[in-house]
This record gives sequence, structure tokens and C-alpha cells, in this order.
Amino acid sequence: MMSSKDAKEKRKLVEESLDEHYDAFNSMTTAYIQVVASMHTMNSIRDMMHEEIGRTCSHFLRPEGTDGTLAKPDVAKRASYADVASKEMAERVCVPKGPSVTIRKTINLVIGPTDKAVGRYTSSQETKDAVLNAVNPSKVGLRVSRLTKARNNAIRIEACEADLDRLRASPGLKEAGLEVKKDVMLNPRVIIYGVPSVLSSDEIRSQLAEQDVDGAGIDDIRVVYRYPAHQGKSFSSCVVEIRPETRSRFISAERVFLGWSACKVADHVKVLQCYKCLSFGHLAANCTKTAHCGHCSEDHETKQCSHRDKPPHCFNCSLAKETCQSHSAFDVNKCNVLKHRITAKIHRINYG
Ligand SMILES: [Zn+2]
Ligand SMILES: [Zn+2]
Ligand SMILES: [Zn+2]
Repeated sequence: MMSSKDAKEKRKLVEESLDEHYDAFNSMTTAYIQVVASMHTMNSIRDMMHEEIGRTCSHFLRPEGTDGTLAKPDVAKRASYADVASKEMAERVCVPKGPSVTIRKTINLVIGPTDKAVGRYTSSQETKDAVLNAVNPSKVGLRVSRLTKARNNAIRIEACEADLDRLRASPGLKEAGLEVKKDVMLNPRVIIYGVPSVLSSDEIRSQLAEQDVDGAGIDDIRVVYRYPAHQGKSFSSCVVEIRPETRSRFISAERVFLGWSACKVADHVKVLQCYKCLSFGHLAANCTKTAHCGHCSEDHETKQCSHRDKPPHCFNCSLAKETCQSHSAFDVNKCNVLKHRITAKIHRINYG
């Protein structure tokens, strides 16, 4: 048996050692938290740098090997990286705060009933069935990547390859009362930030035309919309519609020069969404449907919502049974329904 003195000493030793463990655990936890925090800070700094300095820089900051060494700056390399990066940029449509979509290199065409055969087809589905029967894709050099509905009971075909002359001359198509129509592709639009308010829309057009060497004339540039300047500011954003080649040059350069300003440029793709019922293709002023709230999805208009304190719930995503529904119905970044709409619109724009 241990004497009570021995027992006391043993207990003291155990307590001291427990204290030491406790202190060690505390320091380790603190150190761990500091490491995590500094990693987080480093990540945010890196993200900020990437965003601010531009995508080109990411090539330099990216480790070259698994050992984590940084790529050596090299003048010759820098030029080629910049070229590649800007080329890559023009090949994607990046909607600010929204989706980023790779531009499809496809041929778009529309097949619909001829004037004489208008009554023969009552839906795009009927036209589609007739086209599938009448045309043998391999005989007319057609490699189809997508078939969708188009207006006036027509169908739109996105093809990787197509011999349009052979398709037009196809006897099956003529017998079915169908013809290849010209697909009306939309011209791309870009948003220019920080445009001096003193410039008139015509001055903006002519200055942009001057910068697109061998490219657009003033008639190829249309000022679509100028945002009102914020109070006390003499700059605002401006949306312009331009030719595909001009858009590629401006997006690759990332900036255009207007007056004394170097203005940032980004792709601009908007879909018409009703503020009252949240569906697409019409404005609230012409809406005859039931109101739905863009925040909580209940049957009232968004501006009348009294559930602002609760998390958002998207009406459109809940209707489409999307897995993520906790966002506003106007959130371009999170709403899948809205993103699909924007992507579909991007595929209807002529990016060259
Ligand atoms: Zn509506
Ligand atoms: Zn609401
Ligand atoms: Zn949604």
C-alpha cells in the first residue's frame, strides 16, 4: 500500500502532467487555427490578385511542378501566355456574376414549311418528324449536334458540319413542303464600364469604330442602353451591340479607350424575365399571369414581400424540381433555370 504522502505526490505529478498536456493541446489548437486563418487569407489575397491583375497572371502564380515552385517569369513566355489567355477569353462568354459558356463552333439553320405548305404543319414536332423522314443526314453532309423548336412550327438545327446547298436541293425536303430558312442570329453585345457621361452615343460609336482597325465601321456599332450615372459621378456603363469580330477584339483586349478613360469590357447577355410572374419572354407591364415573389416564391409581387428576413426560395427552380432552390429567382449566379435560359440565348448569338 502507498503511504498517503506518496499518493499525494503521485496525484500532484499526474495533475501536473495533465496540465502540461492541456497547455500543449491549447497551443496546438491555436497554431492550427492560425494556419487555417493564414491559408484562408492567402487564398483570398491570391483570388483578389487573380481578379485584379487579370487571368494572364494566374499562369505565373500557378506552381510549375508538384514541388510548389513558381513558374519563372520569362518575357517570351509572357507574351505567349497573354496571347493564349486572351484568345481563350474571346472563346468563352463570361456573363458578369453569371455563367461562363464556351462558344459553340456550329452551323445554325432553321427548317420550316414553305409559304405554300404553311397549313400542313401545326407544330414544330410535326415538322421535326417530317424532316427526320425526308432527309438522310449522311447524304446531305449533315452532322447534327442539337435539334430544337423554333417559331412558326419550324425547327432549329445546330450542326458541326452541313452542306447547305445539298440540303436545300434535297428532293425529300421539297416533297414534304419544307425549306431551309435563314436563321436570324443575334449580334453580340458587350457592356463597357466607366464610360464618360459627357460623350454622346455617336461619339462612343465613332471612337469604338476607330479602335477596331480593319474592322467595324460606325454603322456596325449600336448603342443599346446607357445606364444613368450614380449621383455625383460623371461615368456610367453602356451596352453596345457589335459585330462578332469586333467583340472578339474588344474582349481579348479587355479594355476600350473612350475619351480619356480606359474602360473595362465584358460580355453582356440578358434574358427578358417578368418581374411579376417570374417567367420569361415578356415584361411585367404586359403580364396576365399570377404574381410570384422572386424572394420567397409565394403569390405576391417581389416588391411586396414581407418574408425578407427568411432565406430566399426560388419559384422557378421549385417548379423545375431543381436540387438547389434557396436563392432569389433573379440570381444569375445561382438560379439554374435562369442560367439555362442565358446559355440558350448565348447559343443563339453569332460569335463568329
Ligand atoms: Zn409575367
Ligand atoms: Zn415574398
Ligand atoms: Zn432558381
